[in-house]
Amino acid sequence: MFESSLQQLGSALRARQISSVELTQLYLDRIAKLNPELNAYITVSPETSLAQARAADARLAAGNADALTGIPIAQKDIFCAKGWLTTCGSKMLHDFVSPYDAHVIARFNDAGAVNLGKTNMDEFAMGSSNETSHYGPVKNPWDQARVPGGSSGGSASAIAARLCAAATGTDTGGSIRQPAALCGISGLKPTYGVVSRYGMIAFASSLDQAGPMARSAEDLALLLNAMAGFDERDSTSLQRDKEDYARDLAKPLNGLRIGLPKEFFAEGLSGDVAHAVEAAIAEYRKLGATVVEISLPNSKLSVPVYYVLAPAEASSNLSRFDGVRYGYRAPDYTDLADMYEKSRAQGFGAEVKRRIMIGTYVLSHGYYDAYYLQAQKIRRLIAQDFTEAFRQCDVIMGPTAPSTAFKLGEKGDDPVQMYLSDIYTIAVNLAGLPGMSIPCGFGAANNGNPGMPVGLQIIGNYFDEARMLNAAHQYQLATDWHSRAPNGI
Ligand code: GLN
Repeated sequence: MFESSLQQLGSALRARQISSVELTQLYLDRIAKLNPELNAYITVSPETSLAQARAADARLAAGNADALTGIPIAQKDIFCAKGWLTTCGSKMLHDFVSPYDAHVIARFNDAGAVNLGKTNMDEFAMGSSNETSHYGPVKNPWDQARVPGGSSGGSASAIAARLCAAATGTDTGGSIRQPAALCGISGLKPTYGVVSRYGMIAFASSLDQAGPMARSAEDLALLLNAMAGFDERDSTSLQRDKEDYARDLAKPLNGLRIGLPKEFFAEGLSGDVAHAVEAAIAEYRKLGATVVEISLPNSKLSVPVYYVLAPAEASSNLSRFDGVRYGYRAPDYTDLADMYEKSRAQGFGAEVKRRIMIGTYVLSHGYYDAYYLQAQKIRRLIAQDFTEAFRQCDVIMGPTAPSTAFKLGEKGDDPVQMYLSDIYTIAVNLAGLPGMSIPCGFGAANNGNPGMPVGLQIIGNYFDEARMLNAAHQYQLATDWHSRAPNGI
């Protein structure tokens, strides 16, 4: 069961070969056994999950099941879910039980999916290693001395360890794709505006986008079908006709034009990753694709631009956490200002404070023009590079991350090194484009350390998710990297 695709699970449930309660219990037992080590979940609530599973079984018996009815899916703890503790990885929200459902959660509930639990994440989604969580670091199931990536590292680790059938993530600068790459799973960040951000705790609103994480592209298509769609409660949600993201999965890849940005294969890319990505491109040629070299000349500026814009937006979004209406309040204070100050000083972790300070600085009078405005201008140039590139190719491919999973603690003291983990993913968010990562091999094993997974990034033009999923699925039909499981898990 743990190796079945979502399609297979759905069929087994509809054929009553297994009940949703049985399936949910199987996952809950596995979580009880493996989560104490991996720390992939912040909250598991067996009673709540099993109640949803019973309701799903009734729906299955009544014959009005959807594709995802009865399937246990984990939710990143950034999504408000009614009655569930929703922490966003922060002490600030350590006791926040959401009174309402995020749009994404409501979509899964409507589909009859079972919420299996809330997954661990970097605090307020700020990080690339899952070490900034107030609830402790998540371990990579391929090697527990290593990070799973971040910020959706709990979801990625849970999928790789078969602690859920699939999960959700959010991606502001790479947080779906980078952990997917580091944990050997598949993840998709849709075009900005395709999935509603209502009830998704805001980090940097012009970049944040929710998306699915799973073992295969085929599973991602089913999940995105449930998640996507217009929502009037999010002013950036796009009003578009409903799409079936699985519609092109079976198409052959003859004539697909793949662009390889020369900047993505330059200095800073580890040999392990380069080899696996090059082998994947060779496989695509065999599948009928053609390859052209392209250039994204401004992409080298994406990390500095992002680290002006994302903190600026975060400093504004996080001002709501003041200890007054909800969240952490310092126990001792003298007056209102002291209460704000102490609550924020005690409730936020170091990385979040760093971002709030940078964001406040770049927005302040006298610095706004030099930093914020300048970054917005370069953001436009970065987006234009992609527009140029898509004149020559249908999809862009390259590495997702510059290296395989690094050791826990390895980059903790060096924020710039940590920020560089997203060097290939951030430009995609700045442009609002869809991007995904699929497993494409392993690094070399050495000194008794296992070879760690490598991710291939696929970037599409706006609203080209179906084509990207097609390209990923055809590759997954020809290879088996996506179905490998970590040893001993
Ligand atoms: N790692 C990046 C950051 O720390 C991206 C995070 C994200 O996509 N949520 O901001």
